[in-house]
Amino acid sequence: MARREPILKTTDPAELAAVEARFSAEAAAFGLRFRCAACCHVTRALSCSLGYPNAALTGPVAARDGRGEPTSCKYFELGETELDDPGAQASAG
Ligand code: SF4
Repeated sequence: MARREPILKTTDPAELAAVEARFSAEAAAFGLRFRCAACCHVTRALSCSLGYPNAALTGPVAARDGRGEPTSCKYFELGETELDDPGAQASAG
């Protein structure tokens, strides 16, 4: 299997920080719902009821996970309510 090209080709920390800041600002401005707190599969403790690791989809909003991949979950389904995610609110500033 061929290795995928990285989504972001830059490794410049300043550029990566700018991407993260823009993503976070736009997610807030447009009310983007893609994180566990808004998913129907999340538990009250913000863990995933399906058992998926979700560290990148809770807490501070990030465009990329620790491997540099976009923070997304293909099992996300919009829930009827949205839980508080204190870590996300702290990073929205
Ligand atoms: S299915 Fe995905 S988005 Fe939903 S709670 Fe689990 S890890 Fe989070």
